[in-house]
Amino acid sequence: MAKILVLGAGYAGMMAATSLERNNEPFTLINKHPYHYLTTLLHEAAGGRKEPMQYTVKIADVLRKPTSEFVQDEVVSIDREKKVVHCKGGDQAYDYLIITMGWISEYFGIPGMKENSMSIQNLDTAVEIRNHIEREFQTYLEDNDDRHLRIVVGGAGLTGIELVGELCDWIPKLCIQYNIPKSKVDLQNIEAMPSILPMVSESLREVAARALTEKGARLRTNTKLMKVDPGVVHLDGDETVEAGTIIWTGGVRANPILTEAGFTVDRRGRAKVNEFLQSVDDSNIFIGGDCAWAEEDGRPLPPTAQFATQMGPVLANNVTSFMHGQPMQPFQGHNLGTLASLGSEIGVGQMMSIPVKGVIGGLAKEVSKIKYLWQLGGVRLAVDKTNEVVHL
Ligand code: FAD
Ligand code: NAD
Repeated sequence: MAKILVLGAGYAGMMAATSLERNNEPFTLINKHPYHYLTTLLHEAAGGRKEPMQYTVKIADVLRKPTSEFVQDEVVSIDREKKVVHCKGGDQAYDYLIITMGWISEYFGIPGMKENSMSIQNLDTAVEIRNHIEREFQTYLEDNDDRHLRIVVGGAGLTGIELVGELCDWIPKLCIQYNIPKSKVDLQNIEAMPSILPMVSESLREVAARALTEKGARLRTNTKLMKVDPGVVHLDGDETVEAGTIIWTGGVRANPILTEAGFTVDRRGRAKVNEFLQSVDDSNIFIGGDCAWAEEDGRPLPPTAQFATQMGPVLANNVTSFMHGQPMQPFQGHNLGTLASLGSEIGVGQMMSIPVKGVIGGLAKEVSKIKYLWQLGGVRLAVDKTNEVVHL
């Protein structure tokens, strides 16, 4: 029997796996962890909103058929010639491959950035940020060095802004817990472009900027991070900022395993696919989510969870069709809008081109989470996960 391997249990991989189950197609899913984490909520985990495991779904709770195999392992490389995936725990042969191993941070070669900053790349690194910030507050009590209370977030795209929103909610709680005046804390969000959140309308940007500034963040636009030394950020104009916490949210690129495997990639390392999400280099390989360089009307789709989620079933159906010599379906992405949370209660964004802000914006983000869990594991998963949150 032909063997299908799915690499990576993120949005695209999990949706592909559940669709393969529906198609009665046996497969093996390989993922680093025994759980799927909700990347779209990792800024909450970094900002200490809930316990880390609240942002996970056990893979075994979603894949239920005996023909669905799960292997917890880390993919190291892909040998396309031999049709073998090399993992830390051993090799896995395949006939058909679905690659959905997500993204890593893009450092643009900024000297010292990778070595001297933290970033939200997965649940573990999000938790590291949370633990690090809390340790800095504790250390301040020992030596009264103000640098422990300075946090720099580099980049004011959606990740940077959502993280800053989360930190704005958490910092007052930490100040009470450690008996530190809130005025001592300096949270700076530094963005190279003239404005934050370039992807939303100007009026929504203003709403976001006002809300975050009122909560205590310093939003610094037109300011570029040039270099990072341990505890020191160098900005253009020769300014330096000494900070105990330096977080990079300046952009993403696809998992480097794709470039290393010799796929045709774009400047962010995403592997080129045709309209069926099939690799242009290898017809028995399908690629989705942030790993895929997919185009619509000649324009590359952005790396977002909403497209990754929509790609999952198409990846599964097209592998199934291709294996059985049936016609495949082209992928058509539906952009439902963009929502940025600004802490736990409010948010801004555009849904179906309608601007939303304030409490409605915050609620809309919650609704999109429940909708995704419903899609993934039906009403049971949506209710279970929502209950966990309510019971905290
Ligand atoms: P991922 O969800 O990243 O999953 C990749 C999976 O592959 C992970 O399980 C990982 O552990 C696994 N993996 C990686 N490497 C290996 C390996 N070598 N071996 C084995 N397994 C591996 N997008 C939206 O549309 N809406 C939002 O509201 C939104 N909010 C976001 C908030 C934050 C803080 C961030 C960082 C991103 C957000 N995004 C959002 C972007 C979105 O999260 C990504 O586009 C999305 O996660 C991509 O899905 P994916 O399936 O390609 O990869
Ligand atoms: P991004 O590329 O969208 O934003 C990075 C920001 O960092 C940009 O504004 C850029 O100008 C800035 N930057 C880059 N280099 C800099 C420098 N040297 N100094 C100062 N600023 C610098 O990256 P992201 O925010 O991580 O988003 C990645 C992807 O994930 C996007 O496709 C985004 O849509 C998606 N995402 C979506 C959501 C959401 O829908 N709520 C949330 C997070 C991420």
